[in-house]
Amino acid sequence: MDELTQISSYSTQQIDQKSQELKELSFQIWSHPETCYNETHAHEVLTSFLEKEGFVVERNFIHQTGFRATFGTNNGVNVCVICEYDALPEIGHACGHNLIAECGVAAGIAIKAALEKAPNKHGKVTILGTPAEEGGGGKLKMIEAGVFDEIHVALMAHPCPHNIPRPPLLAKQEVQITFTGKPAHAAAFPWQGVNALDAAVMCYQAISLMRQQFKPTWRVHGIFTNGGVKPSIIPDKAELQYYLRAPTVLELEELKSKFEGCVQGSALLAGCQASYKYDTGYLDLVTNKHLASLYEQHATAQGLVFTTDKSVEQNESASGDIGNVSQVIPTIQPGYSIHTSDSNHTRGFREAAGSDRAHLATLTQAKILALTALDLIFDDNDKTLQAIQEEFKATFGSR
Ligand SMILES: [Zn+2]
Ligand SMILES: [Zn+2]
Repeated sequence: MDELTQISSYSTQQIDQKSQELKELSFQIWSHPETCYNETHAHEVLTSFLEKEGFVVERNFIHQTGFRATFGTNNGVNVCVICEYDALPEIGHACGHNLIAECGVAAGIAIKAALEKAPNKHGKVTILGTPAEEGGGGKLKMIEAGVFDEIHVALMAHPCPHNIPRPPLLAKQEVQITFTGKPAHAAAFPWQGVNALDAAVMCYQAISLMRQQFKPTWRVHGIFTNGGVKPSIIPDKAELQYYLRAPTVLELEELKSKFEGCVQGSALLAGCQASYKYDTGYLDLVTNKHLASLYEQHATAQGLVFTTDKSVEQNESASGDIGNVSQVIPTIQPGYSIHTSDSNHTRGFREAAGSDRAHLATLTQAKILALTALDLIFDDNDKTLQAIQEEFKATFGSR
């Protein structure tokens, strides 16, 4: 057995040994769901756990509920494993981010164990706690602050209904639309009013009609966030929130211009004023193929079977702020099955994310991420990292 094989086996054993504690960690987060930048409990349990495990932990890192935990030296490869831990309103951990946190911590522990076992090797593991993925874009401020400048590659695994090593994550733009009209007594003087809700309804319908001209890969979905206050008052204000998604930023611009036409046209028909505000935008995920190949080899060796259903790869696309990370440093964010046919963002998926099967699937992912990291840290001539970086440069140019 060569040194790397021995150390790899020792490293992944550490995950199995801590299985019970890691399960409890995940359960602590799952059973206390906290949304967008309110993840104080998750922040506390994760940072306390990592301190106990011997990492150098920076609490309240960049965000109140962000953290960075590191171990190792600066004169080698610095691999980042990313944790998410925010939940969704009302339906809790229906995206399984408790498992992403568990996976990041478990992978970090395994990489740290390998570094300790081979003190002659130089390298570093960074576990990054990134809050507010579901709309808040916690990673964006970390990118702006230069957190990724000293990191060579980023690894994260996301639970979903399938094993899919290179999932399509779309560029996404959130937008708030406000229609402003004029109030009036809806029975006595309705002709004096200008109905903002009518504009909002027409806007919703116009966007729905336009879907025929949307590319099959685009995703546009919205809700009414304000439809007036009382039927007897002609609504002078109506609001919609939409998410617009497309495979690339260029296509997203095309979609935005169609969308803006629907907003302005509806306002004109109803005689209202329209305004819209673009909020957080996520970039599409650009999977680093070299890095993904390493992941795939280890995943297969761990017994993972990837989906062969092309429609999953083509159609089951979401978005994430990991996309932004992937355009700053080489990144992978494989999706992995937690043995449910329910989709993310449903109550069924939330139940699955708290199950033993999901926990075990997550430990396997942590092992695969750790082994992928060790391939880079234990590569004496850095050839693997060079290939990964060259691919990144060929895609984005030198940054
Ligand atoms: Zn989600
Ligand atoms: Zn998610």
